[in-house]
Amino acid sequence: MLAYTYFDDLFIYTWLVENGYTQIMTIPPNVTYQDLLLELQTKTREENRGLWAFNEAKANQEKPQFPYIGNKNSKKFHHYFCGSVGNMKEKNKVFFLSREDAIEAGYIPCKRCKP
Ligand SMILES: [Zn+2]
Repeated sequence: MLAYTYFDDLFIYTWLVENGYTQIMTIPPNVTYQDLLLELQTKTREENRGLWAFNEAKANQEKPQFPYIGNKNSKKFHHYFCGSVGNMKEKNKVFFLSREDAIEAGYIPCKRCKP
């Protein structure tokens, strides 16, 4: 059974989402609060609260061998997770172990991801 729960005037679902204690799940036809909840969840994620907290151990585990990737054409370099890397042609990619290596090789930091 699904229900919207209140404690006095407090809507429990929004409280859980705002504090990062849960991830929203929408099951039609119960879509009344979908937009509000999604908005709250996005904000909570951006603020790394609760279950969205930055997990350093996980980040290190997922960190690739070369954390910086340069573009031979633009002579800019990026964090491996920058959106620009996804659009880069494989043949234009240059891999760096550190930002110092990239700068020494004449690459300039991306203005978007600020490596
Ligand atoms: Zn970038």
